[in-house]
Amino acid sequence: MRLTGRALVHTGPNRLEEREFPLPAIGDDAGLLRVQRCGLCGTDVEQVRGDLSWVPMDVIPGHEPVGVIETVGDSAAARWGVQPGDRVVVEAFVPCRRCEYCAAGQFSSCPAQIQLGFVPVSHDPPLLGGFAEYLYLPANATLHKMSSEVAPDLAPFYNALTCGVDWVTHAGGVSLGSTVVVLGCGPRGIACGLVAKAAGAAQVIMTGLTADAPKLAIARELGVDATIDVEQQDVSECVCALTAGRLADVVIDVVPRVATTLTDAIEITRPRGTIVIAGMKGNGAVPGLRSDQLVLKALTVKGVRGKRSSSYGLAISMLESSRFPLERLAPRAYPLSDALQAIEDQAGNGTDPAGLCISIAPGE
Ligand SMILES: [Zn+2]
Ligand SMILES: [Zn+2]
Repeated sequence: MRLTGRALVHTGPNRLEEREFPLPAIGDDAGLLRVQRCGLCGTDVEQVRGDLSWVPMDVIPGHEPVGVIETVGDSAAARWGVQPGDRVVVEAFVPCRRCEYCAAGQFSSCPAQIQLGFVPVSHDPPLLGGFAEYLYLPANATLHKMSSEVAPDLAPFYNALTCGVDWVTHAGGVSLGSTVVVLGCGPRGIACGLVAKAAGAAQVIMTGLTADAPKLAIARELGVDATIDVEQQDVSECVCALTAGRLADVVIDVVPRVATTLTDAIEITRPRGTIVIAGMKGNGAVPGLRSDQLVLKALTVKGVRGKRSSSYGLAISMLESSRFPLERLAPRAYPLSDALQAIEDQAGNGTDPAGLCISIAPGE
C-alpha cells in the first residue's frame, strides 16, 4: 500500500510543480481513486496559463479524471455501487446535495459546490485535482462506471462525449431527421457532430478555421456530412446552399472567445429552431447582434453549463460499444513531467495536428 502520491501544483502562469502528498485516511463515506488519465480541455489551458481570474493558485489542476477505485469506505461503496478495482469517471462538480438546484438534479448550478481541479491544496484533504496519481473522492462526488475494455488513452473522451449527448440531444432536442450545424471543431464540437449523427440527424454541418483542416477531416471520417472553412467561405451562404434554403433546426455553438459566431447562429437557424451556446465568449458584447431576429424567427436560445449526470452513462456506453471509429481521434497521453507539453498540444501549439483527445497519465 502506497503512503504518498505525486501531484502537480499550479504555482503561477505556466508553472506546475511536482510535489509528493501523503495519501489521506479514507473514512466510511469517502474513497480514493488511482488516476489513470485526466483529460484536458481549453479550460486547462487557460488555467495553467493563469488566465482564469476566478481560480486561485496552489491548486492541483485536472477536472476530467478517469481511474480505478483504490480504497472505498463501506457506506460510499454501497451508495456509489463500486468496489476497489472498478474503473470509474468522476464528475468535476461535487455538489452540496441540499440546495434547490441539487434537489432538481441541476448540480452544476449548485452555489455551494466544489469543483475538482480548482481547489487549493490547503484544503483538507488536499488531493482534489486530476493531475495527480491519486484523487480523493468526497462523499458527495458522483461516479460513473466505465468498462476496463475502453483503451486508456481514449477513455478521457468520455468528457467531450457527455457534453455532446447533453447539448445535442437534451438541450438541442436533435432527433431523427434533424439538420444540425456545429460551430467549432474542437473535442466538444467533434463529439457534438458524432452524437448528432448517432441520434439520427439527417445532416450535420461543422465549421472551423483554415488551420483546423485536420480536425474537420476527422469530423468527416466520423460521419459529419459537410464542413465549412469560415476563413474561406461564408457560413450563412454555405448553410443556405447545403440545406436548400431551409436552414438548420439546431445550431450548437462551441467556439470559445469569439462572440460573432452568435450572429452567425441566429442567421443560420430556421424559424422556430434552437441555438445552444456552450462556448464561453470572455464576457464580450456580441457585435452586430440583431435581437429582433430572435423574436421574428421565434428562436429558442439555451446556454448550457456542464452536463446532466444522466448523460454520462449514455456517453460511456458509446465509448464502450466500439461502434464508432474513435481511434481516428489519435488519442495521446503525457506523463506528469510533460504536462506543460500536453497543455501546448491542447492549445494547438504542439506536435499533435488535431489534438482532439489529449490527457495526462499521472501513473506513467
Ligand atoms: Zn474540461
Ligand atoms: Zn447544492
